[in-house]
Amino acid sequence: MMNLSSTMKAYGCRYCVSPLKQLLHTTNHHLRFRPCSPSLFSSSFNNLKLPNFNLLLTSNSFFFTMEHLWDRSGMNTNKKMVEHLQQYGVISSEKVARVMETIDRALFVPDKTPAYADCPQEIGYNATISAPHMHATCLQLLEEKLQPGMHALDVGSGTGYLTACFAMMVGPQGRAIGVEHIPELVASSINNIEKSAAAPLLKKGSLSMHVGDGREGWPECAPYDAIHVGAAAPEMPQALLDQLKPGGRMVIPVGNIFQDLKVVDKNPDGSISIRSESSVRYVPLTSRDAQLQS
Ligand code: SAH
Repeated sequence: MMNLSSTMKAYGCRYCVSPLKQLLHTTNHHLRFRPCSPSLFSSSFNNLKLPNFNLLLTSNSFFFTMEHLWDRSGMNTNKKMVEHLQQYGVISSEKVARVMETIDRALFVPDKTPAYADCPQEIGYNATISAPHMHATCLQLLEEKLQPGMHALDVGSGTGYLTACFAMMVGPQGRAIGVEHIPELVASSINNIEKSAAAPLLKKGSLSMHVGDGREGWPECAPYDAIHVGAAAPEMPQALLDQLKPGGRMVIPVGNIFQDLKVVDKNPDGSISIRSESSVRYVPLTSRDAQLQS
């Protein structure tokens, strides 16, 4: 565990230090944060304008440790990305490592973006693909509820990467449903998945991608053992709680400027237990119009 001053020194991106410093004083969380690619800056390093902090921080946890400083040099294959996440303790599950090795992240990011860098990448429509460490964290939090034959819902499925991972985990007897409100992203997610190891599951129908308002979940295939929400809800969406199976688990970022990744367990008697896993920054779970205008 690190103290905050060493965390500040460890930060690898000078433009990010001041705003983050204020945030550091507002919370006692100490989880991982990885510095991001310069491509996420709204302007180049040369003209020294401020970065676009919103995209810079999106889908990253706020904190990181000295050991987690991002080393771009060796990060040129999917396998190396997974090994890196294992080496730094982000992935401890063999099953999650195998699935992330099987689903090649490069098939899901736009051309010419560094596919294996541990940071979010812009995918258009004011959305991002989450950083690999956030995907790994969410897969691990949900692993118990992603056993073969189980049902999983991915709200804000974006590129389809995590939905494909869910599908691999629940297998052909299970169901993995992606819901995304930007039709163009749903279309490209289907193209991405068709090139990936999850293609047979899409073809057979145990994996499906849908256009819809994810705040309403996807009642047709409810209840779900696992629900993942890839965008931050201002408050806990009741429809998603209702669609969680007793014994099921939802992982959802909740908040506006300050967001917590919440782990929501529906107990066998239907009662709900909630804990905070870490401070994070995701794009908002909102209406399509609000997202496109933001
Ligand atoms: N987890 C995905 C995308 C994360 S970005 C990935 O890693 O690829 C969050 C996504 O949520 C965006 O694609 C955004 O369009 C979507 N989104 C935001 N609000 C939504 C809503 N109300 N319903 C469905 N999708 C939504």
